[in-house]
Amino acid sequence: MSTPHTSQAPHVVVAGAGIAGLALARRLAHHGWRVTVAERAPGPRPQGYMIDFFGPGYDAAQIMGLLPRIRELGHDFDEAVLVDERGRRRASIGFRRFAQALGGSLVSIMRPDLELALRENLPEGVELIYGAALTGVEERPDGVEVRLSDGRVLDADLLAGADGIHSTVRGLVFGPEEDHLLHLGFHTGAFVFEDADLHAELRGRFLLTDSMGAQMGFYGLAGNQVAVFAVHRTQETTLPKDPRRALREACAELGWPVTRALERCPEPEWVYYDNVAQSRMDAWSKGRVVLLGDACQAVSLLAGQGASMGMGGAFVLAEELDRAATVFEGLERYEARWRPVVAERQSAARTGTSWFLPDTRLRLRLRRLILGLAALPGVDRWVASAMSGRPSRVVEDLAATPLPETSGGAAGGR
Ligand SMILES: Cc1cc2nc3c(=O)[nH]c(=O)nc-3n(C[C@H](O)[C@H](O)[C@H](O)COP(=O)(O)OP(=O)(O)OC[C@H]3O[C@@H](n4cnc5c(N)ncnc54)[C@H](O)[C@@H]3O)c2cc1C
Repeated sequence: MSTPHTSQAPHVVVAGAGIAGLALARRLAHHGWRVTVAERAPGPRPQGYMIDFFGPGYDAAQIMGLLPRIRELGHDFDEAVLVDERGRRRASIGFRRFAQALGGSLVSIMRPDLELALRENLPEGVELIYGAALTGVEERPDGVEVRLSDGRVLDADLLAGADGIHSTVRGLVFGPEEDHLLHLGFHTGAFVFEDADLHAELRGRFLLTDSMGAQMGFYGLAGNQVAVFAVHRTQETTLPKDPRRALREACAELGWPVTRALERCPEPEWVYYDNVAQSRMDAWSKGRVVLLGDACQAVSLLAGQGASMGMGGAFVLAEELDRAATVFEGLERYEARWRPVVAERQSAARTGTSWFLPDTRLRLRLRRLILGLAALPGVDRWVASAMSGRPSRVVEDLAATPLPETSGGAAGGR
């Protein structure tokens, strides 16, 4: 740990109390930084979807001591099953087998619960402000001035933009969104609804429609709740005014159990809906402003690892700042170490789009076949790595590397 939380300790303002922002706040406070997290939403965001959590973020959560709580809030599923429009099983893969192929490190957890685990028992030195959107940034030779929508003006040594795929920090400092997002040709939606019959039918399984062009996945939660996500192909990048209607139109032909889900789809404000996109940036920092999470490295839900990568990247950023002599050195080392991992995941997601949601009958059949073969030893590992990318040890290796003796952390040199 560097400097204790005194007024001499370096100060970071984190924009966004999502997974990446909260993980960074925890880890920098652990290293002695003063942290102000400014979140636009009036309180914790209740809308959610299921996150299969594995990979670098899982490793970071383990090192930060969060895993027992994440497991407690998480859900266990026995298998993932492809079903046709009449609900008949077409292929399946055991969740445990998939988890084993990933080294046993997989937990399914709703996004608000993962944020809860990160938000609970925040370490000393972290102030979390809700209803405070970042609205302005001005860099000075010795620091950065941050303006918030509640009228506060904060002086900091570093501004970290963890404000998601439509990042305001990125827009203010790096340029317009259209220069930094690559649309992959899909829209996605997610919501939670109550349905005792469907919940009983799910029986601890994750169901995915075996369909082309559009598909929907179902997870049973506690108390007869069902969490669904939908993905459909479209070249339209303007979002519809009514996401519920858009989902009903895109998924109308998918049959059981989609019809039930669409009937029970809640009011639009409870529906998550967005383009499926990746962030594309030449550099992740400029002066004393750095980006993390979806703001700079969104891999898209097609890679199924955005949350994990957000947490892993936040961990790497905090460790590199702690090890560096100056903030600038820490930011440079963060990007040098973490960018190759992100690039590999983004590339795997782009290559895998037509497998995630098949675009031809042949691919649909092949996906079924491969999933069926995944029950075989050896093939399971191949399928797991094809779906999740090459395993990365960056987080574990960094945590195991001792601090250089000369380092006082960026805290010292600022
Ligand atoms: C349907 C779906 C399924 C997914 N499944 C998985 C999965 O299985 N596994 C996985 O690892 N990932 C998954 N992901 C991806 C994952 O959810 C995201 O990558 C992750 O949530 C990104 O975290 P983040 O903290 O970077 O951004 P966000 O979660 O978007 O958080 C950004 C925060 O910043 C706040 N904010 C925005 N603007 C401002 C501002 N101006 N000032 C202050 N605050 C602001 C927002 O309110 C929000 O709280 C999935 C995504 C979707 C959509």
